[in-house]
Amino acid sequence: MPSSDARPIPAASPVIGEEEIEAAVRVMRTGRVVQGPEVAAFEAGFSELVEGAHCVAVNSGTSALHLLLLALGIGPGDEVIVPSFSFAASANAVRLVGADVVFADIEPGSFCLDPAAAEAAITPRTAAIMPVHLYGHPAAMDRLTPLAAKHGLALVEDACQAHAAALNGTPVGAFGSGGTFSFYPTKNMHALEGGMVTTGDAEVARTLRLLRNQGMEQRYANEIVGANMRMTDVSAAVGRVQLAKLGGWTERRRANAAYLDTHITAPNVVTPPVAEGVRHVYHQYTVRIRGDRDAAMARLSEAGIGNAVYYPTPIHRLKPYWEPDQKAGRVWDLPETERAAAEVVSLPVHPALTAEDLERVVTAVNILGEKL
Ligand SMILES: *Cc1c(COP(=O)(O)O)cnc(C)c1O
Repeated sequence: MPSSDARPIPAASPVIGEEEIEAAVRVMRTGRVVQGPEVAAFEAGFSELVEGAHCVAVNSGTSALHLLLLALGIGPGDEVIVPSFSFAASANAVRLVGADVVFADIEPGSFCLDPAAAEAAITPRTAAIMPVHLYGHPAAMDRLTPLAAKHGLALVEDACQAHAAALNGTPVGAFGSGGTFSFYPTKNMHALEGGMVTTGDAEVARTLRLLRNQGMEQRYANEIVGANMRMTDVSAAVGRVQLAKLGGWTERRRANAAYLDTHITAPNVVTPPVAEGVRHVYHQYTVRIRGDRDAAMARLSEAGIGNAVYYPTPIHRLKPYWEPDQKAGRVWDLPETERAAAEVVSLPVHPALTAEDLERVVTAVNILGEKL
């Protein structure tokens, strides 16, 4: 029986261990700290996760999305179809390039973009579809890829939560026109801060390399207008250490999730669905609470079980999206998004959990079943 004075189990547990610290210090001692050999080696290593696609490292996952949209030529006058049930960065990148966000609903069985809803949202102005592999569960790329091809649309994978996830054996980031990953500390692997764009298209990759560095390949021979979104070699060195551990950590996440799946028996707690052919990497282990979610979360917190809602407010209800839509009289019909936002809670699933931690999570969750 968990008690309130038991050691709290955090919802996430980013690793900054001796190896990461040593790697960072080693790079700083070389004096070569900005986009040098460590970044090149990190890109080459990451490429193995995405079937050898071109990899371009940048300073965040948001920058990765922003630059990928720019490199694909998406801008003012274009529409991009985005799920509203995601982190705001997905939609923000679209608005940052001056394009318009068109929200589409999710599939209840995966929390990811519904291909039928995406198809219904296509207009003559649609330039791209942006599925988000939310919580580490791949979106329905088997249906979205032919849909994008049929309509001549770019397909931008927001894989910021889904390092090493796969669908029918193909890794995320290798399906679309390009994919993006985040290396923020709480993600499945990190680089302090950082991001990666993956693409099978050599021209897009070259444009990305220009865009992240002021439009330069040769110093002071600027070819296009670009930004400074470079990754530091310190981040890349940390990222390389983490990349080497990602496989083991992912197996731990999957094993932890499998334990929770079989041991959570509360009738009003719905464990995460996994679609056919999916390799889920459990960035989050997200259940639905049928009942009083606030009370459930309070009880979990009392028992020292970390818990959080990703995301309590769908993007279309956030001020920068809601206010212009209200002015324009635009109303989105997103019932599955609204339902998910009202029901979900994420439980600890990270690789640092012990067997005892997992038992405590299960006990606390199953007690909820009796009380809600
Ligand atoms: C974390 C995240 C991002 C942004 O990544 P940053 O590295 O924090 O900029 C984008 N999309 C999703 C779905 C994310 O979870």
